[in-house]
Amino acid sequence: MIQDIPIEELYKKLRNHFGFLDWWPGETPTEIFVGAILTQRNSWKNVEKAIKNMKKHNALNIKYISSCNEQALSKIIKSVGFSNQKAKYLKQIFADILKNYGSLENMFSLESEPLREKLLSMKGIGNETADSIILYAAGKRKFVIDTYTKRIMHRVYGIDENIKYEKLQTYFESNIKKDLRLYKDFHAQFVELGKNYCKTRPICNTCPLDLVCRKIGV
Ligand code: SF4
Repeated sequence: MIQDIPIEELYKKLRNHFGFLDWWPGETPTEIFVGAILTQRNSWKNVEKAIKNMKKHNALNIKYISSCNEQALSKIIKSVGFSNQKAKYLKQIFADILKNYGSLENMFSLESEPLREKLLSMKGIGNETADSIILYAAGKRKFVIDTYTKRIMHRVYGIDENIKYEKLQTYFESNIKKDLRLYKDFHAQFVELGKNYCKTRPICNTCPLDLVCRKIGV
């Protein structure tokens, strides 16, 4: 029977395989924030197109988004699904930030817990999006949980795939070093593994975790 690999050892295996991943793709906190919302239920390819178009139209800034014509913004980001709804949410979110904090940077000066509460109070932002924004745009420690993380933790360790978001997040935050770069890279490693090996139909024979994975349900 396979002895469960300590979580930091699992990270090392992934890091040795994929190298250090410089995540998240995005040049500014605003771009990362917007990308985190656009990527919900969308491929990253479509998000890239939308971001590129926003830059072309000088629309990737709080001033434009907070006072934009929603239909015009929806047209600019039309490469992503649910573009009407996303344009609406983006406008509401950035108008709220401008009114209450004056800038994204000011809002990001909140500690991570109040920042998380504030983000979760905004329409269009759930746990994963809030934590992606906190970790990658604000540069504060919050471990991001996504479908890949749950799937991999289930197959490797046998944890319940329907585990509550906060419960799995607490597991990581209590068992790995409190290091911002580690938090950022670990999530990126899970995404890379999920995209390339631990897919719905996993490719185990070449997976870097092949020898240490329990392969539950595979
Ligand atoms: S060995 Fe297979 S089931 Fe385990 S993590 Fe890799 S791809 Fe997923």
